[in-house]
Amino acid sequence: MKIRNPRTGEYDYEISPADADAVADVARSLRAAQPQWAARPPEERADILRRWADAVEAHRQPLFEALRTDTGRALISAVEVDGLSATIRRWADIAPGLIAAHSNADVQLAHPTVTNSTRLVPYQLFGAISPWNFPIILSTIDAIPALAAGCAALIKPSEVTPRFIAPLRDTIAQVPELESVLALIEGDAETGQALVANVDYICFTGSVATGRKVAEAAARAFIPANLELGGKDPMLILASADPERAARTALRASVVATGQACQSIERIYVARDIYQPFLDALVREAEAVSLNYPDIGSGEIGPFIFAPQADKVAQHIDAAREAGARILTGGTVETLGGGKYLRPTVIADATADMAVVREETFGPVLPVIPFDTVDEAVAAANDSDYGLSAAVVAGTAEEAEAVGIRLEAGAISINDGSMTSMVWDAENESFKLSGMGPSRMGDSGLLRFFRKQALIRQNAEPATIAGFSEENLG
Ligand code: NAD
Repeated sequence: MKIRNPRTGEYDYEISPADADAVADVARSLRAAQPQWAARPPEERADILRRWADAVEAHRQPLFEALRTDTGRALISAVEVDGLSATIRRWADIAPGLIAAHSNADVQLAHPTVTNSTRLVPYQLFGAISPWNFPIILSTIDAIPALAAGCAALIKPSEVTPRFIAPLRDTIAQVPELESVLALIEGDAETGQALVANVDYICFTGSVATGRKVAEAAARAFIPANLELGGKDPMLILASADPERAARTALRASVVATGQACQSIERIYVARDIYQPFLDALVREAEAVSLNYPDIGSGEIGPFIFAPQADKVAQHIDAAREAGARILTGGTVETLGGGKYLRPTVIADATADMAVVREETFGPVLPVIPFDTVDEAVAAANDSDYGLSAAVVAGTAEEAEAVGIRLEAGAISINDGSMTSMVWDAENESFKLSGMGPSRMGDSGLLRFFRKQALIRQNAEPATIAGFSEENLG
């Protein structure tokens, strides 16, 4: 399978997708090694994971270079690579304590002669299927706590951004105890389907359409599916907000990573009192942003990683324009050196029926809609199939929070936007079509990978059948 380079448009890399037999073989070998991995004390697994973090740091440069080519951006690639080792170390530090805190021995139950011990038993084989927008973070974010829990892990990254797989495998090969329980496989939808059929717990990050297929397959296989899907995050800017500051915040939260982030702000509702000053400031801020072309070492906006995404974004903008919205800046996808780019695009007078307001756009596009009352803004924000996250900006945090709790979304940024990309320890669960299952953030990120097993001890003579004789009634 040939892989496109997002900066040149050339197909300059190849992968060999794993077929169903190959996936089954890898799964079998991971399963064979897992009991020994799970039997290690949590601290020992943590030490092994720390040696993986050392190996990632030693291979920083090849990982960075591969990811930079995968995504066409440099700074965020460095952040992803450094984030990987930091995330491994963080889970290595906290997993043993969390496991101890949630296990117990010989606890007296309400029944006077019975005590109980709670054991945490990890699922045997964990599987991850990930998208192309943050290739390393989203391939490993769930696998690391799964490994710390004692699962073996099988990861299938997106076929759009597979260059980092080879250098990441090199880091795993540095740690033999880990190599037997952690594998990455190359491939597309077919490989992903085979993976779901071979694991005991699936974490899927990607689109709603694929998430639905994965959930259906997981239901047939009777395994838990943890889905992290798309979003159409609203930002509400109340009349008490400073329009200049709100514009700076909205712009960053919308266009960082070229808007190719699930938690990007994709719709902005602004109190009519400050609509015009907000728009003026937003356009000014948007026009100060530049592309990282031709020099990858400058600018803030990289190319679209996945070429068809650029076409979809252009369709949303064109349809809004045709329906009467005003494109105040940006608005045209440019092909430069073979890559596809879009400057931040501010759309005024957008309306609820437009695709750019209803569907996930996944580009640096900011449709802005004025509102007269807070009730109207809350209703408009909640009028969505999605419920990933949202943001409220106001003069005070208290005022913003009072509105935030009325929004149907799993994480609400107060006086900022897209904060789930900055914090790792705030548990949140998606609403509506944006996902299903426990939070990947916070303690739940680890604890979801265990089944609780009860060892219920009878400390007296067990009851006999005589006690259940009908004659005992009355
Ligand atoms: P996608 O759904 O097209 O693909 C995701 C992965 O699924 C890829 O690895 C792909 O090969 C695999 N796949 C495709 N068909 C499959 C099938 N039938 N069975 C099993 N696997 C299959 O998503 P994408 O375009 O790569 O990613 C963008 C989407 O991801 C956006 O919707 C974005 O919002 C979402 N996303 C969500 C989060 C989150 O945490 N909620 C984070 C990042 C991205």
